[in-house]
Amino acid sequence: MSTGFPLSRTTKPVPEAERAAILAAPGFGRYFTDHMASAVWTLDGGWHDSKVGPLEPFTLHPSAAVLHYAQEIFEGLKAYRHADGSVWLFRPEANARRFARSAKRLALPELPKEDFLASVEELIRADEPWVPRSTGEESLYLRPFMFASEAFLGVRPAARVIYSVIASPAGPYFASGVTGVTLWVSSKYTRSARGGTGAAKCGGNYAASLAAQIEAEQHGCDQVMYLDSAGEGDLEESGTMNLCLITSDGRLVTPALGTILEGVTRDTILALAADFGLTPVERSVSLNELRSGAADGSITEVFAAGTAAVVTPIVGFRGDGYEFTIGNGAPGKQTVALREHVLDIQYGRAEDKHGWMRRVL
Ligand SMILES: *Cc1c(COP(=O)(O)O)cnc(C)c1O
Repeated sequence: MSTGFPLSRTTKPVPEAERAAILAAPGFGRYFTDHMASAVWTLDGGWHDSKVGPLEPFTLHPSAAVLHYAQEIFEGLKAYRHADGSVWLFRPEANARRFARSAKRLALPELPKEDFLASVEELIRADEPWVPRSTGEESLYLRPFMFASEAFLGVRPAARVIYSVIASPAGPYFASGVTGVTLWVSSKYTRSARGGTGAAKCGGNYAASLAAQIEAEQHGCDQVMYLDSAGEGDLEESGTMNLCLITSDGRLVTPALGTILEGVTRDTILALAADFGLTPVERSVSLNELRSGAADGSITEVFAAGTAAVVTPIVGFRGDGYEFTIGNGAPGKQTVALREHVLDIQYGRAEDKHGWMRRVL
């Protein structure tokens, strides 16, 4: 494409006072900015019509393939305002690469990395006043996505596809301090099988996870912990976040890639582990190992990693007929320190030794 995403500004922006009220308590995913980025792909014409324009509904034919066969992928990343007013992205190239991998798995067209970055950055420039002046962990959440818009009920890759980016201001994930969560180990549902779509960030994975989430809530848990679908009893991930364990002998262990989503936050934590005196290890970890490690103290901390919450301490697990806590049931010290360090890099309070930050404004 590489014609960029030229801006045509909305004539009806959200009034300033209303925007200020929203930014004072944005929550998550509730409010949207004035603009959106979009582009269209057709089998004959490739990518075209790239632009940033007013936020508006799509018009879709009722037979649009996405509504029937869920040919859809998405990404999630944040824009951070630093104390000097500048606005930055964190490792957006990693999101662009993952978006391309997800596209391939869902038989969607690949969006060039440059276009992914241009769409996100042009949208941020158009909606600059929506990037919160952060006093804590506020950010502008960016949601790039792509879906099959062709009107056709045949089962084959769609010949018409829409790419878009929307933006939503996000408040601090843990409004009243970082608290730990309890995970439900589902023995009924899995999220991913070998050869399936577990490594792709696609809407269908999330649709399939909702019943498991209900099951978790019915058992008094916050989220689900998925095990492998082959019945090996190996830990996978929580469905929106990757799992990490800290051991008493100084290892930071996380399940190896394959059927899990390759999180940018997971990769960031692995890269930072050494700075915290931890040896990063990617391997399979069984539920039995977790249970016995929690009981004998050889597993000292557990957390989940993902863009939305950065790092979420996990303080306990529950499953069919058992439950156990990690450590003393409070968020782990290294977990909290890792979380703070990632945030310090993202908000420009710590040196960006890895060159992860990309300035937009
Ligand atoms: C997005 C996502 C994650 C976390 O990835 P980040 O890049 O760290 O935000 C983990 N698991 C699943 C299933 C996801 O969709």
